[in-house]
Amino acid sequence: MSVAAELVDYDDVLAAYEPVMGMEVHVELSTATKMFCGCANRFGAEPNTQVCPVCLGLPGSLPVLNEAAVESAIRIGLALNCQIAPWGRFARKNYFYPDQPKNYQISQYDEPIAVNGYLDVPLDDGTTWRVEIERAHMEEDTGKLTHLGSDTGRIAGATTSLADYNRAGVPLIEIVTKPIEGTGERAPEIARAYVTALRDLLRALDVSDVRMDQGSMRCDSNVSLKPKGAAEFGTRTETKNVNSLKSVEVAVRYEMRRQAAVLQAGGTVTQETRHFHEDGYTTAGRSKETAQDYRYFPEPDLEPIAPSDELVDRLRATIPELPWLARKRIQQDWGISDEVMRDLVNAGAVELVAATVAHGASSEGARAWWGNFLVQKANESGVELDALPITPAQVAAVLKLVDDGKLSTKLARQVVEGVLAGEGEPEQVMEARGLALVRDDSLIQAAVDEALAANPDIAEKIRGGKVQAAGAVVGAVMKATKGSADAARVRELVLAACGQG
Ligand code: ADP
Ligand code: MG
Ligand code: ZN
Repeated sequence: MSVAAELVDYDDVLAAYEPVMGMEVHVELSTATKMFCGCANRFGAEPNTQVCPVCLGLPGSLPVLNEAAVESAIRIGLALNCQIAPWGRFARKNYFYPDQPKNYQISQYDEPIAVNGYLDVPLDDGTTWRVEIERAHMEEDTGKLTHLGSDTGRIAGATTSLADYNRAGVPLIEIVTKPIEGTGERAPEIARAYVTALRDLLRALDVSDVRMDQGSMRCDSNVSLKPKGAAEFGTRTETKNVNSLKSVEVAVRYEMRRQAAVLQAGGTVTQETRHFHEDGYTTAGRSKETAQDYRYFPEPDLEPIAPSDELVDRLRATIPELPWLARKRIQQDWGISDEVMRDLVNAGAVELVAATVAHGASSEGARAWWGNFLVQKANESGVELDALPITPAQVAAVLKLVDDGKLSTKLARQVVEGVLAGEGEPEQVMEARGLALVRDDSLIQAAVDEALAANPDIAEKIRGGKVQAAGAVVGAVMKATKGSADAARVRELVLAACGQG
């Protein structure tokens, strides 16, 4: 399969057509256990170590619904301004594929938990675009197949396929928009802004890792074109698994240009799924199945879900402020520029800095630690900032030790390194590593006397007026005190001891 022969120039697409989009986003919930069994729900474990008869679909096993997953689903629905269904059943979506050991997926079909919402998506120019939400429903994830032996990593041409069922049964929420119309040239930007906003919102809700690179957030983008002014939608394609925010934008723009080429050549767009390629184009996948193909029927092994008004009200009270509004407020509080704020956002540092400030640190101090030293540490160990083994409370404690004059910034770095290495709380690390700044002149004096005694010829030079020679003695003292003395004070004491004070 090659790149489409021709693409219409983007401006020419817009002169003739109006794009219509629909986004389907799958989100894996970060619950402790899977949707219908007690298996751990953790990314990255050894293949097939987090499985049981239920998620392997063994005969006779029965699913039990995960209450925490339902609560997360309701919270997502509420955050998206949806109505929460007072009653609904799960459905069986029947299909055979080796990543689905039961040969059906438990999903919600015509009775989703949340319907008819919207999200006001912030755009780069400071305006918002309202994206209407059709529904958010619960389902279970499939296992993961790895195909070996083909150039593309896809099944075509593969010689071996490996199945890992750790992901089978992981709770999944699918969020589907209503058709997004009227965007014109901004379609790709709005698609990206929507997925970005959704990711940030889900992160603020603390319901998912929302890592597109690890597949805990996956986006399918539907695009169609209609001649300008036409009433009817054109035929859509659904580009699967667009795995980064940038790719969402690229995939929409590419499909608009490709479909315009098909239409202008007098052809018709085929309704199909398409694969997104990281190089920025799509290729045809399977032609789309219809709902009938799945022979949906109500899942007989699970009771209907009937969230009470009390439960929904209790969950509504947990919905946080929209993260981009919260950020705007925080930025004003901290008095920082858009650029500085953007860096903090990109580093995933905003919430951590805010939490550190809540523990009594200054916002400047907290920003400096999270935005510089700790970002660097996170990069070195290849983890997200919030996965570093240090808490905002601990960073605030380090900052207090610096403010109290017990640590220099340099020593504080060593303390933080100790905390990251699991050596305990900042104060413990400071003591165990002997890092506290020595304020006590008598301790420094002893080290100065020792250093002078060990270097009689240098001492003689200083006494003779060569004060530049003091540097070597200061260095020896700093070494002996492991950097815990104040170098300027050491120098004063060295000179005084040699009659040059
Ligand atoms: P399917 O399961 O077949 O992919 P869904 O209803 O789950 O169908 O998702 C289809 C998505 O595409 C929705 O977001 C919907 O709003 C959108 N959509 C429907 N028709 C069109 C169209 N003609 N052009 C673009 N998007 C469309
Ligand atoms: Mg779909
Ligand atoms: Zn299981």
